[in-house]
Amino acid sequence: MQTRSRLILFITLVSLSLIIFSSSTILADYFAFESTAEAKTIGTSNSNIKNHIAKSTDIVVKEIDEQFLITDPSKLIYITFDDGPTEYTPAILQILDQYQIKSTFFMLNNNVQKHPEISKAVATAGHTIGCHGVTHKVSEFYKTLTSPRDEMTTCGKTVEDVTGEHVQVVRVPFGSFPHLTAAQKTELDKAQYVLWDWNVDSNDWSINNSDKIVQSVLKQVEKFKGRQKSPVLLFHDKEVTTKALPIIIESLQAQGYLFKQITVDDEPLQFATKK
Ligand SMILES: [Zn+2]
Repeated sequence: MQTRSRLILFITLVSLSLIIFSSSTILADYFAFESTAEAKTIGTSNSNIKNHIAKSTDIVVKEIDEQFLITDPSKLIYITFDDGPTEYTPAILQILDQYQIKSTFFMLNNNVQKHPEISKAVATAGHTIGCHGVTHKVSEFYKTLTSPRDEMTTCGKTVEDVTGEHVQVVRVPFGSFPHLTAAQKTELDKAQYVLWDWNVDSNDWSINNSDKIVQSVLKQVEKFKGRQKSPVLLFHDKEVTTKALPIIIESLQAQGYLFKQITVDDEPLQFATKK
């Protein structure tokens, strides 16, 4: 009996020592991670901790860079995609993820209904979802005073039902000029929709050659240098776009450009509306 008690006591003590020892190791790791200086003095051989610290430093430097560069709008680029989602949207999401870029997708009502999972993936990845309407036909979309607003409301409801995202930004089909009247624009404003056009057209809807798209986009972006204006790139969720996009992004990142998704806080780029 006594021997058994001793044995139990011995096992308890050994367990306690082990717990205390492992806790102190965890604590040591924690403090080393918290303080770069301490980690250096300790000279820890734990490469994980070193990696963590390196990563945190990178993030801080990147944030400072971004804040600094935001004061020069021409160094900031908005990438936007119209008419989706399509079967090519997942490939686009993968590219944007690879280069750690957030962008904006102006979706069509029927395509959101057709590809609910892809629409959700766009939202989950943290990109902005805007609306592009329902019919995409000039004769229908711009038919009456309220038809542009009504198509956006229908599209917005679908996006919200499918993804849970509340749509605030919109792009009208073929751009606001020359189709959208000032009165129709006022109706969109009253419904709290922020209208966005573009100033760099990739022409990926008509050019089926990724090299030509790359050259054209880079040339157009070049013209914005020193103009204190952000390039707003127009793409579509197409196969050719998935080929051109990585080359465009790599080239622009190498030139020091930063990419930003559209939010309601950004100053919208709009063509002049028809009177
Ligand atoms: Zn369109």
